[in-house]
Amino acid sequence: MRDDNAPRRKRAAAFLWVAIALGLVACAADPGARRTRRVMSEEDEIKLGAEAAQQVEQYMGLSGSPELNAYVDRIGQRLVKHSSRRHLVHEFHVVDMAEPNAFALPGGHIYVSRGLLAIMNSEDELAAVLGHEIGHVAGRHSAKQQTKSRGWIPVQILAGIGGAAASVVSPNLGAAVAGIGQLPASLVLASYSRKQEKEADRLGQQYAAAEGWDPAALSATMDALTREQELAGGRDPKQLSFFDTHPTTPERAREGREYASTLSVAPADRIAVDRTAFVNRLDGLVVGPSAKAGVFLDHRFVHPEMGFALTFPESWKYENGATAVVAYPESQSAVLGLQVVAEGDDPATVADEIATQVELLERSEGKKINGLRAVTANARIVQEGQELALSLTWIAKDGLIYQVLGATTSTRWAEYRSVFEATAASFRRPSKSELAEVQENHLRLVTATKGETLGEVAKRAQSQWSVEKVAAANAMSADERLAGGEAIKVSKREPYTPEP
Ligand SMILES: [Zn+2]
Repeated sequence: MRDDNAPRRKRAAAFLWVAIALGLVACAADPGARRTRRVMSEEDEIKLGAEAAQQVEQYMGLSGSPELNAYVDRIGQRLVKHSSRRHLVHEFHVVDMAEPNAFALPGGHIYVSRGLLAIMNSEDELAAVLGHEIGHVAGRHSAKQQTKSRGWIPVQILAGIGGAAASVVSPNLGAAVAGIGQLPASLVLASYSRKQEKEADRLGQQYAAAEGWDPAALSATMDALTREQELAGGRDPKQLSFFDTHPTTPERAREGREYASTLSVAPADRIAVDRTAFVNRLDGLVVGPSAKAGVFLDHRFVHPEMGFALTFPESWKYENGATAVVAYPESQSAVLGLQVVAEGDDPATVADEIATQVELLERSEGKKINGLRAVTANARIVQEGQELALSLTWIAKDGLIYQVLGATTSTRWAEYRSVFEATAASFRRPSKSELAEVQENHLRLVTATKGETLGEVAKRAQSQWSVEKVAAANAMSADERLAGGEAIKVSKREPYTPEP
């Protein structure tokens, strides 16, 4: 669950169980797709790109220090000078995604994930990847994709109590939970065709070469991605990686090297002059899940940014999505969800709004949950011929109304009711000691001593990454003997401190 500074306009369409489908077009997999020559106007492209960028920032969030973001932007702006669409205002950001990825939105909003930065080892790689994305913008690839599909729908919101309950209770519970976990990733744009990928590769390499970066570095990133994927044990279908939006093969890495050798490269003018200078800029980057969206401390969920905690039933399974936190028992016979549903200080206003959609039973006003104003109620709804029982609690805290929703079939209401109510009653401001337990992993640099192996460095640094992962992130081999003095990227477990 994300604390975003973006305007909270999600007003009271209360049960916002948001499903986002950002124009997911599997063009590459659909050679029979009807071709159309009509490409959206540039004006539309800019407008839709700006809307999508707002969604990315709201649901995925940005990451990295202002310095790192400024650095990425500086490289991007130098590359843009060589684009045929340099009149567009391009923006470059680090996006809060653990998976290695990079993507361009229509109109020139370009994002590189912190997960991809973490496996890069030179400014040339970063320049080649940003160049590739600028190439997609220059080739108007997403504009072409979108007109080929049913139309560009930046965000599709499926709201309403019926939809929420229908999708959260068995038998569809598993899918609903998967969907919530996937939410940020599903924001990523359509995948491109092989032809578009090749075009973007070449354009990006041209831009990089024209600014004195090594165009062959694109292939180094491809290699790093391939290695990363192998380490992860193949593709996790729940996680959207660079490979989904940018189909790649070892062949593409080879083609990249071949093409690079045909380009003439301008004199080098790097900002980070060598590998050490580059990786030092990544110091402190969050790796793995970021704590700012909230973390599970065993069965307690603590959100350090929004300042709340909730204790879920022990032994349930938990998912922290972009807009909701959900928990469910192994049997999937019930579900609990926590989300922000409105702005305001009076939980009764949300209850009133819900009451216009569904009859509220046992509504209880003027309650206090750990000192916070709350309203509780139950409801019965029928979904697909099945009667569902809902436990609803609305709690006001710091200008937002939170909702704890418990749902199960009516036949199991007696069994789960007290579980739902106990969970809602645990909503609280986290204690100092609870906040102190919140940790996350950060990329740190360790200087190797002569003759040390990577494994020894990782051990000495208490790296959270395995030796193989340290090797992959540093583009080295695991048994490599180090000459000494190398800056080795490792992942360290550290207390969470809010990003500036
Ligand atoms: Zn691409």
